[in-house]
Amino acid sequence: MATTDPDAHDHHHDHDHNHGHNHSHDPIEVAEGAGEYEIMVHAIKELLIEKGVITGEDIRKTLEFMDTRTPALGAKVVARAWIDPEFKKRLLINGTAAVAEMGIPMGDAELIVVENSKDVHNVIVCTLCSCYPRTVLGLPPDWYKSRNYRSRVVVEPRAVLKEFGTELPNSVTLRTHDSNADMRYLVLPERPAGTEGWSEEQLVAIVTRDCMVGVAVPKAA
Ligand code: FE
Repeated sequence: MATTDPDAHDHHHDHDHNHGHNHSHDPIEVAEGAGEYEIMVHAIKELLIEKGVITGEDIRKTLEFMDTRTPALGAKVVARAWIDPEFKKRLLINGTAAVAEMGIPMGDAELIVVENSKDVHNVIVCTLCSCYPRTVLGLPPDWYKSRNYRSRVVVEPRAVLKEFGTELPNSVTLRTHDSNADMRYLVLPERPAGTEGWSEEQLVAIVTRDCMVGVAVPKAA
């Protein structure tokens, strides 16, 4: 593979390596600067700007917008569904339209909301890469993008959930949903017992990111 190091023409270090002791090992190379994918992204970005497809301002605005996306948005959607049965109906029928009501855009992707019950527990993954309902939950955690999670949650969801501290009775059916560029999933957890009469704010506070990915369940405590 061709190197992308701009200084690759000079691998003969012109500084003195013999500073006081002998190097019996190869010098430890510290990888600095951009990796292969980062360089590729920059190259594509520059081409798109050069060809007038997007502007630098578009990119800046998008990054600024993504920084406003956090799991608190998803938590508001879930809490609303818990207290408003009509909203919940709309959310389950057409997630994209229902979150748009709350000012959350899905962009080009469709949002599919999957509801947990006492019989069914849903968990989301992107087996191929890292598709995630980013406009609702912000950026995915590192483990969501890991090969380990992506491959195992499909074949042994119960064991993976257990590692997250979530143990479900054997009577509960586990369903894993594979996200892609066109379809993003959001788990609607079951409202826990003991939250009767809680305000919307109180409910929002117990709905965590992991609950909406399906690796955890909200607790009243
Ligand atoms: Fe993906």
